Amino acid sequence: MNNSIKDTLTNTASIYGSYLSFNEPLSKHSTIRTGGNAYAWYAPTNLEELLETVKFLRKNNIRIVIAGGGSNILFPDGYIDAVFINLSVGYFERIVFDGTTVTAGSGARLSKLIAESVDNGLSGMEGLIGIPGTVGGAIIGNAGHKIEISKYLVSVTIIDKNNGLHILGKEDISFGYRKSSFTVEDIIVEASFELAREEDRAILRARLREYLAGKLKTQPMADKTLGCIFKNPDSIYKSAQLIEMAGLKGVRKGGAVISTKHSNFIVNDGSATSSDVLALINVAREEIKSKFNIIIEPEIKFLD
Ligand SMILES: Cc1cc2nc3c(=O)[nH]c(=O)nc-3n(C[C@H](O)[C@H](O)[C@H](O)COP(=O)(O)OP(=O)(O)OC[C@H]3O[C@@H](n4cnc5c(N)ncnc54)[C@H](O)[C@@H]3O)c2cc1C
Repeated sequence: MNNSIKDTLTNTASIYGSYLSFNEPLSKHSTIRTGGNAYAWYAPTNLEELLETVKFLRKNNIRIVIAGGGSNILFPDGYIDAVFINLSVGYFERIVFDGTTVTAGSGARLSKLIAESVDNGLSGMEGLIGIPGTVGGAIIGNAGHKIEISKYLVSVTIIDKNNGLHILGKEDISFGYRKSSFTVEDIIVEASFELAREEDRAILRARLREYLAGKLKTQPMADKTLGCIFKNPDSIYKSAQLIEMAGLKGVRKGGAVISTKHSNFIVNDGSATSSDVLALINVAREEIKSKFNIIIEPEIKFLD
C-alpha cells in the first residue's frame, strides 16, 4: 500500500484520537492466538469517522475486514494486505436501555450486554452466556447456546456495500443455524433487542449460573480456542461425537490439539500456527468422510 493511504489513515486517526496500528499481529486479537500480521488495525470511535474511513478505503480499493472479538475466525499465518476495522470503542460499544428495548453497538461485548440486561431486570439474553465476542460477530453467525441471538432481535443498523446507512428490521434478514444473510460487505453498526421484564433478578442470575456451569463442565473455556470448529451435520450424531468415534480425541498437528474435554474444540497448546489448526480441521473432515461418509462443515470463518 502506498504512503498516501498510510498518511490519510494516520491523519484521520489523529483527528479523532483513535487507535491505529500498522503491521498489527492478529494473534493478539484472536481467542486461539494464531495468525500473521495485518497491514493496519483501526478502531474508530464514532460513526462519522467510520463512514469517512470506509468510503476512503473502498474508493481506493483497499480491502476491509471487520474484526469483532476474534472468537469465530481463523486468521491466516502470513501477511494480510487489509485494514482491519475494529468497532470496540466509543459509539460502537455503547449499550442503551429504553424500557424493555436495548440497543447495543456492534462492538459491545456480548457478556456485557447479558450482564447489563440482567441488572436492568430484563430477561432474554441469559441463554447466550459464555459466548465470547461482540454483538456484531454474534449476529453475523447467529450465535447461540440455549437460544440464538436472532430470537429477541428487532433491528440491525448496517453500512452496506454502497456506504449507505440502513436500519433493517428482523424480517429483512434471514437467520439459520450459525448463519445470517449479511454479506462480507455489510458492516453492522448496532442492533436493538426487545426483552421481557423480570423484576426478580435472582431468577435471572440463577439461570446465568446454571447455563455457565454447564458450559464450563463440558467445554475447554479457559483454553485458547475458537469454540466449536464444526457445525453439527444433518445426522443423528453431533460433530463432537463423530470426531470422538473416529478416534481423533487428543490428536494433534503441530501445536493444535483436538480437545480431550470437547472433541469439537481445537486447542492451541501455545505453539500452534493457523496452518496447524487448518491441517487438523482437514484431518477431521477427511476421517469423518471416509469412516462415516458424512461431510462436516466448519462453523468458524476463514480469511483468504
Ligand atoms: C470458548 C468459546 C465458546 C464459544 N461458545 C459458543 C457458543 O456457545 N455458541 C456460538 O454460537 N458460538 C460460540 N463460540 C464462537 C464465537 O464466540 C461466536 O461465534 C461469537 O459470536 C463470535 O463473535 P466475535 O465478535 O468474536 O466475531 P469474530 O470472530 O470477530 O467475527 C466473526 C465474523 O463476523 C464478522 N464481523 C464481526 N463483527 C462484525 C460487524 N460489526 N459487522 C460485520 N461483520 C462483522 C467478522 O468479519 C467475521 O467474519 C465460542 C467461542 C469460544 C472461544
